[in-house]
Amino acid sequence: AAKAEGRNNYRFFLPSMHERVKERKTIEEDLRNALEHDQLELFYQPKVDCLSEKVVGAEALVRWNHPERGLILPGDFISVAEECGLINKLGAWVLREACKQTQIWRENGMPELRMAVNLSPAQFQDADLLRTVTRTIETTKLPHGTLELEITESILMNNPEKAVSTLKELKKLGVGIAIDDFGTGYSSLNYLKRFPVTSIKIDRSFVNDINVDQDDKAIVDAVIGLGHSLHLAVVAEGVEQVEQLQYLQNKGCDFIQGFLFSRPLPVRDFEEWVRDRRENHAAPPLSTSIPND
Ligand code: C2E
Ligand code: MG
Ligand code: MG
Ligand code: MG
Repeated sequence: AAKAEGRNNYRFFLPSMHERVKERKTIEEDLRNALEHDQLELFYQPKVDCLSEKVVGAEALVRWNHPERGLILPGDFISVAEECGLINKLGAWVLREACKQTQIWRENGMPELRMAVNLSPAQFQDADLLRTVTRTIETTKLPHGTLELEITESILMNNPEKAVSTLKELKKLGVGIAIDDFGTGYSSLNYLKRFPVTSIKIDRSFVNDINVDQDDKAIVDAVIGLGHSLHLAVVAEGVEQVEQLQYLQNKGCDFIQGFLFSRPLPVRDFEEWVRDRRENHAAPPLSTSIPND
């Protein structure tokens, strides 16, 4: 069963603690190797304006092309990278790659897109973060406001004072800050007010049942209202159905990400997607069903 299900990832069913430790060690060694041998790749998921349905940006999502195991998703290696101290190196690579790609698109006449990059807690706490971001923006000549970093609520809670000062510095650099998976963590309204963030992303667990679950509906409505009263852009993630899109459009949500528009795509496919869409940008999503990949 492990073979059928898990050929492409590390979620093997393992018999013992010992095996699990060994498995993690293997991932760790492979991951070091991956960084040196160009096995990481960024996929891009479009972010779309909720009303006009035009693409306004992309989120970079890292993938690992493992020579034996195939494509591995971040859920199966980001936490290992965090634990073994590789996350900063990996994160710096992601940042550089995403910014370079954005610059290439700008030079090649793609529509102006904002680029969102995920930061894990260890990266946010890294003393070199500001330097890395500054240097990356300078070398890739990204205009003010093009880069956005996605962080989670837990990052803000760990050391609020430090977080506020880091966020302020990032803001000076023209970097937007999105709170990812909003609603799943513990940030209080007070924190939201104090932190210079630019947008919140409603976690997809709330979006999922938006049309059937009254509680989720209430939460989504509240988050949109809260975001707007604090002058934040509200993004809904995990939109898979036209009905969800319509609900969010009616409620004045600002931006949408989800399989309804597109899965995260390798760079060439993303470019093609944007081109196709630009040619028929007024068209609504073509179908309510999500193709399996
Ligand atoms: P996230 O930042 O919340 O990213 C959204 C995840 O939801 C992505 O999974 C995306 O493929 C998936 N998704 C998007 N739309 C839909 C949808 O309509 N339905 C469903 N079911 N899923 C959808 P992915 O790429 O596997 O990434 C998982 C998480 O790994 C990300 O969650 C983020 O926290 C982390 N991650 C990804 N790339 C990086 C990275 O470069 N650095 C760091 N530190 N973390 C990363
Ligand atoms: Mg994200
Ligand atoms: Mg998210
Ligand atoms: Mg997430």
